[in-house]
Amino acid sequence: MLLTGGLAADDGLRACVEEAVVKAKIKNVEIRSHEDSVYAGSLGAALWGGYRAERLRQREVSRSGRRRASGRRLGAPGGPPPGVLHAPGLPGALTLRGIRRPVKRLKNQPMSQRPSIYSAAMNGRNQAQKGSAAASDANGGACLRPPASAPPSSTPPDYDWNEIARNAPTISPNAEFLDETLRDGLQNPSVVDPPIEKKLELLHIMNDLGIAVANIGLPGSNQRAFDDCLILCKEVARHNMPIKISAAGRTVVADLKPMVELSQRAGIPIEAYTFVGCSPIRAIAEAWDLERIKKLSIAAVDVGVKNGLETTFVTEDTTRSRPEVLGELFKCVLDHGVAGLCLCDTVGHATHDGVANLIQFTRSLMASLGHKARIDWHGHNDRGLALTNAIYALEVGADRVHGTALGIGERVGNAPMELMLFNLKMLGLLENYDLSRLAEYCEKSADAMGWTVPPSYPFVGTDSDQVHINALYTAASPKSEPTPDPRAVQNL
Ligand SMILES: [Zn+2]
Repeated sequence: MLLTGGLAADDGLRACVEEAVVKAKIKNVEIRSHEDSVYAGSLGAALWGGYRAERLRQREVSRSGRRRASGRRLGAPGGPPPGVLHAPGLPGALTLRGIRRPVKRLKNQPMSQRPSIYSAAMNGRNQAQKGSAAASDANGGACLRPPASAPPSSTPPDYDWNEIARNAPTISPNAEFLDETLRDGLQNPSVVDPPIEKKLELLHIMNDLGIAVANIGLPGSNQRAFDDCLILCKEVARHNMPIKISAAGRTVVADLKPMVELSQRAGIPIEAYTFVGCSPIRAIAEAWDLERIKKLSIAAVDVGVKNGLETTFVTEDTTRSRPEVLGELFKCVLDHGVAGLCLCDTVGHATHDGVANLIQFTRSLMASLGHKARIDWHGHNDRGLALTNAIYALEVGADRVHGTALGIGERVGNAPMELMLFNLKMLGLLENYDLSRLAEYCEKSADAMGWTVPPSYPFVGTDSDQVHINALYTAASPKSEPTPDPRAVQNL
């Protein structure tokens, strides 16, 4: 049995699983992931570990030649499961609509002011490294100190399985984040569309967090949406904010024209995300054929490009679309000047392999066509994999990933932006990001949209503090020596 205390990232789980499956030849590995798992939530971490275990087992089987690996996929009939998935709690995404508990915040304090380490943590990591034992926040409550259970200094530090063979940054320093809270987030059926004042406040927080792009909505959908978008664009112009603005619309000319108008009236560039469904199931539902989709797409892209908008072509349900269809559509729109291709896991279908295969396919296709466009990853959380898929997308070559505050989005939502930023920061990959407003980002988003944060939600749930104090302490403690390779220990 492998126990994760809620701190395991995929590298750590992989290393543990490899030890058990490859070295110790254990056939059945049970992974128990703490329900407050920082990295992926217990479900994501356990699934990821189980997935790795199965891959490793298959490799071992094929190497030894003792038996074929087929028919032994995870959970498939025909043999005992290779891993027992144990995911207590099922946090966050599985909250049932309509029976959420009312908000019960610790001591009635807003999340950003609770005795949490985060407001101090995100810009206080250096303080911890200097040995500060009590970096209090403005309320005097947040202490960046070793947890009560921290080992005395004479004992060796915790072993960090995350760090084995992680010798270099795993994502490009130019990777970008696009915040979909004000577009996809508002398509969740349980939220309220916030008043413009709250949208403006969220936009400023996104800007302060270093988020590259904010999608502000569908300006072609109705007059109120357009008016809100215009106010947000003018705010960016007035404050000369570095955050870039994008808006979404269907691949119809009528949805692109309002974006052109926004850009002209506010005097700022707008990135146009124009979307079309191209999976077989969507084509049947809409009675579309490929020629019609191509015609619509080209017409819409032409409006954006010819009016100077940086235009991204969005294929809904990309992860279930046929490669020959994608190839033909991508070639068309690349020839017509799109700046980006947005690959969507619209129904939350993709596994990590799906993410890697699709990104590699797209990159290879562009190379063969002599085009170079940005690749976006936009994933949903129906399998609970949105967070890990988004981080993995960055690792395998996506240039920009999408997320929303608290993962709020259509159905069960998107990749949670705050957990992406938090985890990548803790891995030392977002050095130039100041995340001191990250908890406030969650709090203000929940408040604006009438959302209840489950107590067990990672990072800002009311039950998460102790876990995260431990997490921060572990991650921020100076490491006197690099994590030794376990193979060296075996030889002792
Ligand atoms: Zn979406």
